[in-house]
This record gives sequence, C-alpha cells and structure tokens, in this order.
Amino acid sequence: LNRRLAEFGTTIFAEMSALAQRTGSINLGQGFPDTDGPEAVREAAVRAVRDGRGNQYPPGPGVPELRTAIAEHQRRLYGLTFDPDREVLVTAGATEAIAASLLALLEPGDEVIALEPYYDSYAACIAMAGATRVPVTLRPHEGPRGGAAHGRFVLDLDELRAAVTPRTRLILLNTPHNPTGTVLTRAELAAVAELACERDLLVITDEVYEHLVFDGAEHIPLASCPGMRERTITIGSAGKTFSFTGWKVGWVTAAPELVAAVRSAKQFLTYVASGPFQYAVAEALRLPDSYFAGLRAEHQAKRDLLSAGLAAAGFEVFRPAGTYFVTTDIRPLGESDGFAFCRALPERAGVVAIPNAVFYDHREEGAPFVRFAFCKQTAVLEEAVTRLKALA
Ligand code: PMP
Ligand code: GLN
Repeated sequence: LNRRLAEFGTTIFAEMSALAQRTGSINLGQGFPDTDGPEAVREAAVRAVRDGRGNQYPPGPGVPELRTAIAEHQRRLYGLTFDPDREVLVTAGATEAIAASLLALLEPGDEVIALEPYYDSYAACIAMAGATRVPVTLRPHEGPRGGAAHGRFVLDLDELRAAVTPRTRLILLNTPHNPTGTVLTRAELAAVAELACERDLLVITDEVYEHLVFDGAEHIPLASCPGMRERTITIGSAGKTFSFTGWKVGWVTAAPELVAAVRSAKQFLTYVASGPFQYAVAEALRLPDSYFAGLRAEHQAKRDLLSAGLAAAGFEVFRPAGTYFVTTDIRPLGESDGFAFCRALPERAGVVAIPNAVFYDHREEGAPFVRFAFCKQTAVLEEAVTRLKALA
C-alpha cells in the first residue's frame, strides 16, 4: 500500500458491521436502512433488467432518462435549473462522485477545507489526489440548555475564514451533516458563499441527506446561494433518499465545465455504473411529494425514539436536525474514549455504534462522541433502547 493510503486502513463501517455480525449485535453503526425502498421502484428495476434497458454499458454521463429526472427533481424542489446534457453526471454512488470530483479538480499540494468530523472517504480521496486536508471543526453549541441552538454542532465562520490560504483550492461541504446531524442555515451557507466568491474557491457540497431534515427545517442547496451556481459541485445519492444503498446510483450537478472535468476522472474510475438501476432511480425521483414527506416523518419519529432511549440510558444526546444519525457524548456515562466504548458495546449491551473520532484529524476533539444510526425498523430501535438501558 502506498504512503498516500497507508494511514487509512479498513473503513470503520466494514469493521463495525463485521463486529455486529460476529457478536449478533444490533447494528446501529453503518448507515443503511434495514427495509428496502418503495415496491414500485424495485419493480422498475426488475422491468428494466427484463426489458433489456441498461444491461449493456449505458452512456458515460448516465442514461438520458435519469439525467432529465435529476434536473427535474432539482427544479421541483429548489427552483434550480440544470441542463441534463451538460450539467448532470450520473456516478457509482455519491462515493464515486466525491472521488471523481476531487481527483478531477485538485493539483498535488492544493489544500481542501473540510468540516470536521468528516465522512471518511473525503480524507482518503483528498490524499489520493495528492492534496492536503485542512479540517475546520464543528463544535457543540453551549447555549442555554433547552434552547434551540443548545447541543447543535456549529461551524465557526471565523475559523473557516482563517483556514483559507493561498493554496486553498476548494471547500468540501456536507449538509445535512454526517455524523453530527447539523443542517447548515441560510446565514451559514451565505457566509460560505461569500468566502468562496471572495477567495475564488470552488465548493463541493455533499447533499446526500437532502430529504432527511426534521422539525420543518429546510435543506438549502448551496448552489442556490448568491454567486454559487457557477462554482458549486453538488452531490446527491439515491441510496439515502430511496433506501437502496446497494444500488450505488449517485450524481453530480454543476456548471458544464465542472461536470466535464468530473466526467474526465469518472470515465477512468468506473466508466459507467448500474444500467438498469439508473432507469429505476429515474422513476423514483418522480415520486410524488407525499413520498418524500413520508420518508421525513418516518425518520423523525425514529430519531425521537432513539434519542429518548439514549438519553434515558445516560448519554448526552445531540438532537440531529437532519440525516439518519444521532451523535452522543459518552462522558455522562463515566466514559471518555469512544473507540474503547464502541469495541466494548456489543459485549455490554449487544449494540454496535461508530466512534466519531474516526472522522477527526484532531482525534482528541472527537474522542467522547459516538454515533448511532436510526434508519432501522421501529421494533429494532425499541430493542436497542431496551438493551442500552443496561448501561445506565
Ligand atoms: N456522503 C455521505 C455524507 C454519506 O454519509 C455517504 C454514505 N453513507 C456517502 C456520501 C456515500 O453515498 P453512496 O452510498 O451513494 O456512495
Ligand atoms: N455513509 C454510511 C455511514 O456513514 C456508510 C457508507 C459506507 O459504508 N461507506 O454510515
């Protein structure tokens, strides 16, 4: 293994899912739903295979039906218009979109600002591109207990501004944010936009959890902020929105020259992906608003169930405004090392979780935080909550 990748080892998700299997624990680690997405969408995939649509290499940028559906979805939700032919690219999941974007846009030695804790593939892909990551840490807001901002992980805009150097090429944003559940506000996004324009930076924004926002919160795409349409690469995924993480259908929307750049890298990573699933996702994106509202409501109820259970078990809970993860602080349990805690949790309670420290360069900042996924059946979450009571 080369020096660029040596520090990364095996992803925490594979490690923790294997631990769950080995110990027969409830897996609230890796974020994947334990119920598949809509029947009609599954049927669409079967029909595509049977009718011979996409069984051979689909077009490099993605099948036209899907590119059109992605553009229409962005217009329907956010009023953003993208040309399906020149401004949309289908990828093998958001993971490939992240990799191809970074590999296409970075020069060795460039700096990339990423919000810490960050999704694990960001660091590895920045390294593969020979660039340097510059983390800006989100920290829990200490405001009045019970207040709306209390416990929200916040982005310090002064720190963000101070992190920009002459070598900064781009900012890698993620909202709704995995693992903290923070949904960036319009004011925060406007500040990022202003900084990007002022310092002439590109922004890659990972918005795979765009539909998972709660309590009436609004997901605001960065591309809709003033000045950002031309300098933003937006990443989406069918895995999260339609509960088909195994299909690996993702996408990029951006200005034509940026999409062309990302396509140049993408063609040599996978060339193309998931022919029949692309047709099925095209249908999924056209589901009525009621589907998306239902997805939100269902996950909000699950968030509340798991958050209450974790609080009752003695964790400090950071109530997520978005995503299907809840971050906790284990210090009230008399613990301080999330790694040790997560390795012992199967034995102690029959549950698997993720130590947030893996998403930090400043490991000490992340040490006491542990993430639980709530994209699981209600009965499974109830059983997990019962088991976790053993910790209290
Ligand atoms: N970005 C974030 C923030 C994620 O949480 C994930 C997956 N959990 C991905 C990207 C990868 O998405 P995909 O499965 O579509 O590759
Ligand atoms: N994104 C999922 C998570 O954060 C896992 C995806 C993966 O295993 N790479 O849990």
